Amino acid sequence: MANYYLDSETYKHHLHHPLMKRIVELKERNFADKEAFDYAPVDFEDAMDSYDKVLEIVGEICADIIAPNAEEVDHEGPTVANGRVIYASGTQRNLEAVRKAGLMGINMPRQYGGLNFPTVPYIMAADMVSRADASFENLWGLQDCAETLYEFGNEDQHKRYIPRVCGGETMSMDLTEPDAGSDLQAAMLKATYSEQDGCWYLNGVKRFITNGDSDIHLVLARSEEGTRDGRGLSMFIYDKKNGGVNVRRIENKMGIKGSPTCELVYKNAKAEIVGDRKLGLIKYVMALMNGARLGIMAQAVGLSEAAYQEGFAYAQERKQFGKAIIEFPAVYEMVALMRAKADASRSMLYETARFVDIYKALDDISKERKLEPEERQEMKKYNKLADAFTPMGKGMTTEFANQNTYDAIQIHGGSGFMKDYTCERLYRDARITNIYEGTTQLQVVAAIRHVTTGTYLAQIHEYDAQDYKPELADLKQKLQAMTAKYEELVKLVTETKDNEYIDFQARRLVEAASHCVFGYLLLQDANRTESFRRSAEVYITYGQAEVNKIYAYITTFDRESIDFFKA
Ligand SMILES: Cc1cc2nc3c(=O)[nH]c(=O)nc-3n(C[C@H](O)[C@H](O)[C@H](O)COP(=O)(O)OP(=O)(O)OC[C@H]3O[C@@H](n4cnc5c(N)ncnc54)[C@H](O)[C@@H]3O)c2cc1C
Repeated sequence: MANYYLDSETYKHHLHHPLMKRIVELKERNFADKEAFDYAPVDFEDAMDSYDKVLEIVGEICADIIAPNAEEVDHEGPTVANGRVIYASGTQRNLEAVRKAGLMGINMPRQYGGLNFPTVPYIMAADMVSRADASFENLWGLQDCAETLYEFGNEDQHKRYIPRVCGGETMSMDLTEPDAGSDLQAAMLKATYSEQDGCWYLNGVKRFITNGDSDIHLVLARSEEGTRDGRGLSMFIYDKKNGGVNVRRIENKMGIKGSPTCELVYKNAKAEIVGDRKLGLIKYVMALMNGARLGIMAQAVGLSEAAYQEGFAYAQERKQFGKAIIEFPAVYEMVALMRAKADASRSMLYETARFVDIYKALDDISKERKLEPEERQEMKKYNKLADAFTPMGKGMTTEFANQNTYDAIQIHGGSGFMKDYTCERLYRDARITNIYEGTTQLQVVAAIRHVTTGTYLAQIHEYDAQDYKPELADLKQKLQAMTAKYEELVKLVTETKDNEYIDFQARRLVEAASHCVFGYLLLQDANRTESFRRSAEVYITYGQAEVNKIYAYITTFDRESIDFFKA
């Protein structure tokens, strides 16, 4: 029987990373839950075994149910009637399957009906779901909003909402408005407090809301009358059971057609506030988006993998000029690079997930007791790394998903342009990944800080200081040469102290840093598991050439030439 989890050693390789020991230790707090829940793990091996088993179920559902439904879902799509969304029939079957298997809320604490899974296995499930159908991953992945509810909601809200998510209810994050896209500070949906009713009411319009007819919404709204910036925004929970929000229309989109993208009208919709007033954007939405960005990285990884699988299979089957097209250098180069980009993206995804796991588990512990000084240091370190790796990872992996799906079509030639082949859907589905949850340009805005302050460089040096097998020495040397060029470029650009010029070169600097980081991550993979060696070789060869291109561009660039580019 097909199973996405078992069909390669990739997932187990990432699941069994050395840092998992620390993650499980923090997440399970000396396995205290074993007294209260008979399904809670009793030790590290037991915890890993439970992740393994659940991921095996996810792998089976992906291969047997979600992937076979994907084409029909893409064709049928959701509809809207009387202000309510009706999912495509395949989506309904998918939802039924994941609910029945208990795969909703798996990362939530056990006392609310979850399995207390760390981010790593949770995001691994998202990677597989996306590989099966990226549009369904949107619906399944939005349960991640529960994480924000858990982090910032009060105990009463935890008790009332989280068990519902674990029981299979869906969520959405309602942030974007017609005039507030990348710039969410401009959000104007109005929140008014009624002293008489002792609750808030929401009025206004949100657009482009994925799964906007969900059961539980997290909403960014303006609670402070007369304000116009982010400091006047708060976060609210809207419960569909209370009514007041209707779906005016769903968008007719290019891709992820199974995922309903809704325009919502709020008319006196009763809502309750999450956490403190005025921290909606500054604190809560930032956390929400970081989690969601990791989800989109997983979506991109799933798509990159699926594109590789399709491209590789076709390149082996298709014959031209008397031989399989994979024998032509132009084609085998594309296939090898697709494999390397998918592997590099996946390594970045799980590295980021591990950073998130450690700092979040420590943050959660800090709500119960005072952290020891070394624990506080550890939390600070991993929080900073998660902040740095999330925008770099989201930016690069989603661009790679676009490149891989583009190349999958190229390998298929004219057939790839036809609706008969899966690669056509993958290409359309990938196109949104580098736009929503912050465009690549906005990821660069977040990541450049870590270029100029040296977060990436310090981490690259840490990777370099680790022990590698002697046969990987050549690759390590290449990475050292790339890093030296990157360092030189950062110095050259930042020394100008010209902010416009730094912004102009920012994407190139972030990309150069990314090639070093991704290269080192693959080197570590190859050090642990031999089958990653080829991707490490291919990626580092490619990454070095990319860094050289960036180096040539920046070192020969005349700063005055910026004017050529201005509108
Ligand atoms: C299918 C789909 C699903 C979505 N789902 C959701 C959802 O569930 N919830 C939600 O709240 N939103 C959702 N969105 C909205 C999405 O997050 C926004 O579309 C996205 O953040 C970009 O905003 P915008 O479309 O207004 O583009 P703009 O902000 O108008 O950007 C246009 C261009 O300008 C560039 N740009 C803007 N500002 C800067 C800057 N400071 N520096 C450099 N470049 C800049 C952008 O990179 C982009 O290239 C969804 C959108 C789509 C299409």
